[in-house]
Amino acid sequence: MTIEPLGASAHAMSRSFPLPLPMRRALDLAAVAAEAGEVPVGAVITLDGEIIAEARNAMRGQVDPTAHAEMVAIRHAATRLDTSRLDRCELWVTLEPCAMCAAALSLARIGKLTFAADDPKGGGVLHGARVFNQPTCHHRPEVFSGIGEAEAAEQLRSFFAARR
Ligand code: ZN
Repeated sequence: MTIEPLGASAHAMSRSFPLPLPMRRALDLAAVAAEAGEVPVGAVITLDGEIIAEARNAMRGQVDPTAHAEMVAIRHAATRLDTSRLDRCELWVTLEPCAMCAAALSLARIGKLTFAADDPKGGGVLHGARVFNQPTCHHRPEVFSGIGEAEAAEQLRSFFAARR
């Protein structure tokens, strides 16, 4: 499946490796989170190839344990589109969503999920609860992983290394 309606290929090709623009943006948002002392995770929601919402982890800043990048981005997108059903939207996030976020993506009926790095310790898509694989999950987005994985993993590694 190709998703390059952004006229972004020229921009992306000028980087060391061509990342889709939404994931490039999500990685930049994750870097902003790290600067703010938050675990570096960024998320972007696109509709018809255009970014309509973006967020980064804000649990500490908002004093809200549920303020994961995906949750905040979903709220922004729903508000912006004035609908609780985001079935034509795609979510791009730098880390495998946790079980809470995976459930929220299902409830929001997000059409497609692309994440960068796997999260064997806290993920809920390919690991742990595997939310989308449960019979109680009534909407499963298409799932793609590994896009931007090296950069996302390095962001997390250096964030936690600096805190030891
Ligand atoms: Zn989460």
